[in-house]
Amino acid sequence: MTKYIFITGGVVSSLGKGIIGASLGKLLRSRGFSVCIQKFDPYINVDPGTMSPFQHGEVFVTDDGAETDLDLGHYERFIDTPFSKLSNVTSGSVYSTVIKKERRGDYLGATVQTIPHITNEIKSRIIKAQKHFKADFQIIEIGGTIGDIEGLPFIEAIRQFKTEAGYNNAINIHCTLLPYLPTSGELKTKPSQHSVQVLRSYGLQPEVLVCRTSKPIPKTEKEKLALFCSVPKEAVIECRDMKSIYEVPLALEEQNMAGVILDLLRVENRKPDLKNWELLVEKIKNPKKTLKVGIAGKYTKLSDAYISVVESLKHAGYANDAKIDIKWINSEECIDEDICKTLLKDIDAVVVPGGFGIRGIEGKLNVIKYARENNLPFLGLCLGMQCAVIEYARNVAGLKGANSTEFNENPEYPVIDLMQEQKDIKGYGGTMRLGAYDCHLKKGSVAAQAYGTTKISERHRHRYEVNSEYLDRIQKAGLVFSGMSPDGMLAEVVELPQNDWFVASQFHPEFKSRPERPHPLFLGLINAACAQKG
Ligand code: GLN
Repeated sequence: MTKYIFITGGVVSSLGKGIIGASLGKLLRSRGFSVCIQKFDPYINVDPGTMSPFQHGEVFVTDDGAETDLDLGHYERFIDTPFSKLSNVTSGSVYSTVIKKERRGDYLGATVQTIPHITNEIKSRIIKAQKHFKADFQIIEIGGTIGDIEGLPFIEAIRQFKTEAGYNNAINIHCTLLPYLPTSGELKTKPSQHSVQVLRSYGLQPEVLVCRTSKPIPKTEKEKLALFCSVPKEAVIECRDMKSIYEVPLALEEQNMAGVILDLLRVENRKPDLKNWELLVEKIKNPKKTLKVGIAGKYTKLSDAYISVVESLKHAGYANDAKIDIKWINSEECIDEDICKTLLKDIDAVVVPGGFGIRGIEGKLNVIKYARENNLPFLGLCLGMQCAVIEYARNVAGLKGANSTEFNENPEYPVIDLMQEQKDIKGYGGTMRLGAYDCHLKKGSVAAQAYGTTKISERHRHRYEVNSEYLDRIQKAGLVFSGMSPDGMLAEVVELPQNDWFVASQFHPEFKSRPERPHPLFLGLINAACAQKG
C-alpha cells in the first residue's frame, strides 16, 4: 500500500523543498523502498515549457516528453528513478482538464466549482500517479509558500486526501526558515510558528517540521518549535546550509528523519545502504584538483537556467576527484572575437548549452571556432550542436552563408532547418520533439567509445535539425556524424576525432547524469580536460 508524504513550505520561497524531498526520497530508496514523486505547481501555465528560463530556471524533460519543473531533475538525480508526465501537475493543467470536461458535458448540469471539481481533479492526479508507479512512498511537493492564493486548491485537496487516506497513511512535512539575528545572536522561531498557524487555518497539521537554518538549532528552540507547532521533538529536523546539496541526505539521516517518518506511517524501518553516497560526499569534500569549465550561453545571469548542465559537470568532476569551477560566459560578449579569446583563455573546457533565438548566436559560433582550432575540450548540447554544425559549415566546409532558419528565414545555406513534422504545427506549448528517442552510434566513434555501446536512448527538446541536404558536404569536409536516429534521417551526434574532445549532441545528455553515475559525454569532456592539465 502506498504511503503519501506531502511537502509544503512557509516563511519564504526558495527554501529548497525540492532538495529536502529528494533527500528524503534518497533515504527511503537506500532502505530498499520504491519512491515516486510529484511536484504540484500552482501557476496557471499548463507546464513550464513556455516560461522564460530567467523566471523559472531550466525546463526539465522526462523520458515520456513532459516539460517539467527543474525540481524533477533533483528528484531524478537523488532517487535515480525516471519520472513522468504524471509527476508534474500545475493549476493550468488541472483547470484545463476541468474546463474540457465541462465543455464536453461531463458534469451533467452541475455548477463547476473549485471545491469539489478542481480539488477532485487534483486528487485524481495523485491517484493516477499512484496507479502508474505503485511505489511504496509517494512524495508530493507543493510549490510556493503557504498562504499563496493560487496554492489554496492544492492545500484543500491535500487536506481532503489526508483525511480520506486515513491516519498513518499520509503525512505533511512543513519546511520553514529560522532567521538568525546577529545582534542578539539568536535563531528566531516565530515565523515558523506563524507559518504553521496558517497551515492549520486551512485544516492541515504538519507531522514533521524541517527548518532551514544557517546555524545549529539549540535544544531549547527545538523544544519550543515542537510545543508550539504540535509535533514530536524528534520530528523537528534541522536542515543547515551545506556546501553541496548531496550532503543533505546524510545530514537528515543523522537526525533519523526517515526513521521518524516511517514510524509515523507505521512502516517498519530498515537499515539504509548509504555506503556509495558517503564515498561520493567524501570525494566532493576532498577534491584533488580544480577545473575551470566555461558555459557559454545567454541565460548566464541565472545559474538555475542550466542547473542540470552544472550538476552533470560536477558529477563528471567527482569521478575525477576534481572540483568544477564554472565560468559563466555571456555569449553576446563573445561576438567580438578578441573578447571571446580572452574570455576562453583561462578555462579547461567549454560547454555550449541549449537555447532558443538569435541572441548571442554569433558569439557561440566564435566560442566553438576557438575550441575547435585550439583543441579546447568542447561539448555542445542541442542548440550547441546546431551551432557546431553551422560553424563547421561556414569555416571549414566553405558554406559561407550557412545558418539555421531559426535565426535567418532565408540563409544562403540553411544547414539547420525546421523539422518536417514541425512545419504545420502552430502554438508553442508542448509542441517540440520531446522526450526519449533512440539513437545509433557509429562503431568505433568517440561517442560510441564513451558510451561503451552503439545503441542509446536520450531525451530531446527541439524543433530544428541538421538539414540532411547538407550532411554529405559537411561530412566530406571532416565533421563526423557519429550518431543518427535509427532510420538514419536525423543527425544526433557530431564529433571531431582529431581533437581531444569535440562532441556535440542534438539531445540533452544533462537530464540523465547522476551523481554516482556521471553521463558518458560529460565524463568524456572532463576526462579530456583533466588529461590536458596533466
Ligand atoms: N532552438 C533549437 C531548436 O528548437 C534548439 C533547442 C534547444 O537547445 N533545446 O531546435
